[in-house]
Amino acid sequence: MTDLRQEAEAIADQFSEHLDVDVDEVEARLDTLVSEYKIPAEEARRSVTNHYLDEADMDRDELGRGGNAEVELAEIDAAEQWVDLTAKVIDLWEPRSDSIAQVGLLGDPSGRMKFTKWAKSELPELEEGSVYRLENVVTDEYQGQYSVKLNRTTTITELDEELEVGDDTTEIEGALVDIQSGSGLIKRCPEEGCTRVLQNGRCSEHGEVDGEFDLRIKGVLDDGREVQEVIFNQEATEDVAGIDLAEAKQMAMDALDTTVVADEIRAKILGQYYRVTGPTFGRYVLADEVEELGGPADAEETLIKARSI
Ligand SMILES: [Zn+2]
Repeated sequence: MTDLRQEAEAIADQFSEHLDVDVDEVEARLDTLVSEYKIPAEEARRSVTNHYLDEADMDRDELGRGGNAEVELAEIDAAEQWVDLTAKVIDLWEPRSDSIAQVGLLGDPSGRMKFTKWAKSELPELEEGSVYRLENVVTDEYQGQYSVKLNRTTTITELDEELEVGDDTTEIEGALVDIQSGSGLIKRCPEEGCTRVLQNGRCSEHGEVDGEFDLRIKGVLDDGREVQEVIFNQEATEDVAGIDLAEAKQMAMDALDTTVVADEIRAKILGQYYRVTGPTFGRYVLADEVEELGGPADAEETLIKARSI
């Protein structure tokens, strides 16, 4: 019964700002479902919560929790958490949908994170470079990447203060064990702000376009314990592969085939050791700095060491 009591208090607490909910009544509802109807506790909690959502005429995503955790961006590691934070708007992007009022990047001393503000939430405009206190935002996760969403219950207070923004840079070292498709000489969509990689001359957003050539490597670094996907941009690719964009285009033209570039890059760098430094974007580390470490030359040395043990 104690567990049900705690559940009941938690549910009543969630509605404290919206409804006058009696804890005894919540507990009685839970008890009926669990004891009489043998409904699993989890299911019972959802059902009772839905009952009060209906009563308050609210959506589930409007249901904040009283006394949210105060977090820094880098601490966010789960979806659907209600949190309060203080952050600076670093960048605003063009919303891709009418349902989104604003989308962009927030930063605080611990790092950076994408935010979305729903159009229907009717919140004030955020300005680039300003610092805000954001209360009652909800976390989200997509392909391992976290973001925060500002909804109708969010309160936004502009603060008249500066906030240092951390760059959440990662450093990894390892052998380049794989080069994925989409590496080498690629074409990007030339539409303003798009830069999507074209597939057979088509952008998934803008259809058939005259693409712009670019060089990149989508690789996998293995440090012996785990693997990490990395992306080398044009500059980093030219650096490690020793092929610049003009040479790559010439190679592709001579061969009437762009895949020769990826083949050439693969032959040059697969198995080499690198130290890569840069920000994390989803499952990728973007290689801002790349340093080649003693690679295959060490193989013999390692062998000698191994023999001597
Ligand atoms: Zn496009």
